[in-house]
Amino acid sequence: MRKIRLFYVCAFVLASVPAVCRAQVDTRWKIHDRSRPVPPVIEPGTASTQEAPGRAPSDAVALFDGKDLSQWTQKKDGSPAKWKVENGYFEVVPKTGDIQTREAFGDCQLHVEFAEPSPAKGEDQDRGNSGVFLQGLYETQVLDSYQSKTYADGQAAAIYGQYPPLVNASRPPGEWQTYDIVFHGPRFDAAGKLTRPARATVFHNGVLVQDNVQLTGPTAHGERPLYKPTPEKLPLALQDHNHPVRYRNIWIRELKPGE
Ligand code: MG
Repeated sequence: MRKIRLFYVCAFVLASVPAVCRAQVDTRWKIHDRSRPVPPVIEPGTASTQEAPGRAPSDAVALFDGKDLSQWTQKKDGSPAKWKVENGYFEVVPKTGDIQTREAFGDCQLHVEFAEPSPAKGEDQDRGNSGVFLQGLYETQVLDSYQSKTYADGQAAAIYGQYPPLVNASRPPGEWQTYDIVFHGPRFDAAGKLTRPARATVFHNGVLVQDNVQLTGPTAHGERPLYKPTPEKLPLALQDHNHPVRYRNIWIRELKPGE
């Protein structure tokens, strides 16, 4: 009797597998259907070198063109961004406050380049600290973690206070580093209940360091706040943590539903 029941359970599970797989594929088109719309053609851009930033993909929104911070404001009051622009990069001016984009963004692919102060100064969290805040709420930590120790969920490329990076792929102070982030924001129903937590994938200097992690809520120091209902689009913010971290070549591609 037991064997028979087990057989039926196994048969059901096996029969369910193809159905689950099929559910991932858009069934409006047959396999290899030539009437299926093809993806838009874009120019993929070029990679950066230490000497010069690369070119963004043609469908990206460039958030810094090397010349001015016109697309950024002070996060606190919306006044023009006070950080310093020179030689094709911009630099945190300590104690001026966080900056954020004028435009709001939802699910996205984000490219950011940064360089830690050289020579290095300070230790632990007090060493080249800044941060990339998706939607102004979810921080991918920017820190000088090259031969420098801190707590794991606060080192460079950590989702701050939640997920340490899989490896420490930091470059030495003064060298340009990259973050490539895929972010899917949270969703809420009409009553404000969370229906989908935020997720993030991060590459640090081309190395996978966050593999589709599910965020517990906004990031914070010493606590893990729960989600509160937020709009689907919010500005991207960069953190002033009193250290002159440099940034260049920041671009973003918004993802459509299903991407
Ligand atoms: Mg930080």
